[in-house]
Amino acid sequence: MMNLTPTLHDCELLDLQDPLRSLREQFELPEGVVYLDGNSLGVLPKQTPARVAHAVAHEWGHDLIKSWNTAGWFSLPQRIGDKIARLIGARPGEVVAADSTSINLFKVLAAALHNAAADHPHKKTIVSERSNFPTDLYIAEALCKERGFTLKLVEAQDIPEALTDDVSVLMLTHVNYRTGAMHNMQAITALAHAKGILTVWDLAHSAGAVPVDLHASGADFAVGCGYKYLNGGPGAPAFVWVHPQHTDRFWQPLAGWWGHAAPFAFTPDYQPAKGITRFQCGTQPILSLTALDCGLDAMLAAEPLGGMSALRQKSLALTGLFMQLVRTRLHGHGFGIATPAEEAQRGSQVSLTRTDGAYAIVQALIERGVIGDFRAGDGGQHADILRFGFTPLYVGYADVWRAADQLLQVMQSGEWQDARFSQKQAVT
Ligand SMILES: *Cc1c(COP(=O)(O)O)cnc(C)c1O
Repeated sequence: MMNLTPTLHDCELLDLQDPLRSLREQFELPEGVVYLDGNSLGVLPKQTPARVAHAVAHEWGHDLIKSWNTAGWFSLPQRIGDKIARLIGARPGEVVAADSTSINLFKVLAAALHNAAADHPHKKTIVSERSNFPTDLYIAEALCKERGFTLKLVEAQDIPEALTDDVSVLMLTHVNYRTGAMHNMQAITALAHAKGILTVWDLAHSAGAVPVDLHASGADFAVGCGYKYLNGGPGAPAFVWVHPQHTDRFWQPLAGWWGHAAPFAFTPDYQPAKGITRFQCGTQPILSLTALDCGLDAMLAAEPLGGMSALRQKSLALTGLFMQLVRTRLHGHGFGIATPAEEAQRGSQVSLTRTDGAYAIVQALIERGVIGDFRAGDGGQHADILRFGFTPLYVGYADVWRAADQLLQVMQSGEWQDARFSQKQAVT
């Protein structure tokens, strides 16, 4: 299999031998669709509609306000947080599911700036990666403006030398959303700490996709997304983790009543709760949290089968297979591979580059039932990207083969050049 181009038959055999194959049965996967966009919106777990319907009809419809206690609504952010903790090397009680990734990033970045300033008041710079996800950069830019800090953006390879004496916080996304390149969290955190710099990690493309061990990595703060690899549904709540050495040093600035030590004392002054609970703000969307809980249960069903390390093995096999098929079967069709070939340096996606037509090719593929997505380049160093996420919970080897085969057909037929595939929609 390593040297010869795998056939559909080879891939079907791999599916038959796949010890994680049964996990796919937990999800609604539309007939005839190869879904390679779980890194943008995860699929629907089969149990979600019934559990959300129960929360609507019974917990809300019948039990009404009693459900804050009887159905455990009030502790849902913490209970889901404990499930997420198992995926990211955090301990019980250190994670809450709440708000959006953008909002959680604001909270932890503010806390990081505050804690760093308490120890090193002269440091006034945040370093991040130029190709970080834009919302992360926008949130950092806004906070910098407000607090008199400077945001310094560098290319990934230049991070070590950018960690100079004026730097307070290093804010990175662990797996790059465009290229799928993965940072060595432990090594970079060690470099930062050696300079007295705190680290903030965005795990949007990591949680449920690659093994993460926040404690072993020495990380300080982390946030992540509920609707990507965790299959929590559109707009699902995100999560936030803070190392216990930092949680109680600061009130995060969105100090709402759900982060209060005694929210139902209704006192006029703010007293932050101990631990991660203070990183909550206001009332959380219980129906969305219920859906997220279902996504996590589907994810944690992998634990008896080897958990994240088994999922990681399969993910690497899937992304490796796709890259191999692109290099062999799609040779000569103008694609480059932006994702690192080195296993330790890639997440769970493969990004192809092409100088023209990337958007139209993705649209033509979607019409053929292979769903990936397009991410625009910057017209310079970063090319347009055709992005394919390989979610080992429900993507199989034959799916990978079919995706590459359909891509080949799109290219051979030239159909992607049809004008209708170039009409850009609001969401790409
Ligand atoms: C998807 C993603 C987000 C999404 O943020 P929202 O607040 O949910 O819109 C943020 N950061 C990164 C790195 C992402 O990949």
